[in-house]
Amino acid sequence: MASNKTFTMIKPEAMAAGHAGKILDLILSKGFRVVALKYTRLSEQEAGKFYEVHKERPFYGELVGYMASGPVLAAILEKDNAVQDFRALIGATDPAEAAEGTIRKRFAESKAKNAVHGSDSDENAAIEGAFFFSGREQY
Ligand code: GDP
Repeated sequence: MASNKTFTMIKPEAMAAGHAGKILDLILSKGFRVVALKYTRLSEQEAGKFYEVHKERPFYGELVGYMASGPVLAAILEKDNAVQDFRALIGATDPAEAAEGTIRKRFAESKAKNAVHGSDSDENAAIEGAFFFSGREQY
C-alpha cells in the first residue's frame, strides 16, 4: 500500500532568493498538509550522508557542497499518493525540461540548483523524514 507521506527540502538557492513562502503556499494549495517543518542548515558531513545514494555520481561533491552552502526548509508532507503527486508538482530535475506550472519550472535556477527536493519512493520518504525529524516533531 502506498504511504501518504513524502519529504521535501527547499534548497539553499531558493531560500536565498526568497522563494520559500511562495513555494510553501503552492504546496499547501495543492492539498499537501504539513506534518513537520524545520528551518535548518546541513553541515557538509550531514549533506554527504543525506545524499549517500549518489556517492558514485560525478556531481556528488558539488551536490554536497551546494546543499551545505546555506539554510534549507525541510518538511514532511501528507496527502493521498504523496510521493508521486509531489514529484509531479516539483517537475523534472532540470528546470529546462520541467512542465509549466511545476515548482522547478517556476523557481529553479539550474539542474543542480533546482529549488526543491522530493523523495522518490515511500521507503526513501520515511528514511529522509527520520533524518531530520524526531517523532515528537511530527503531527
Ligand atoms: P531528483 O530526484 O529530481 O532530485 O534528481 P536526482 O536524484 O537525479 O539528483 C539529485 C540532485 O542532484 C538533484 O535534485 C540536483 O540538485 C543534483 N543534480 C542532478 N544532476 C546534477 C548534475 O548534473 N550536476 C550537479 N551539480 N547536480 C546535479
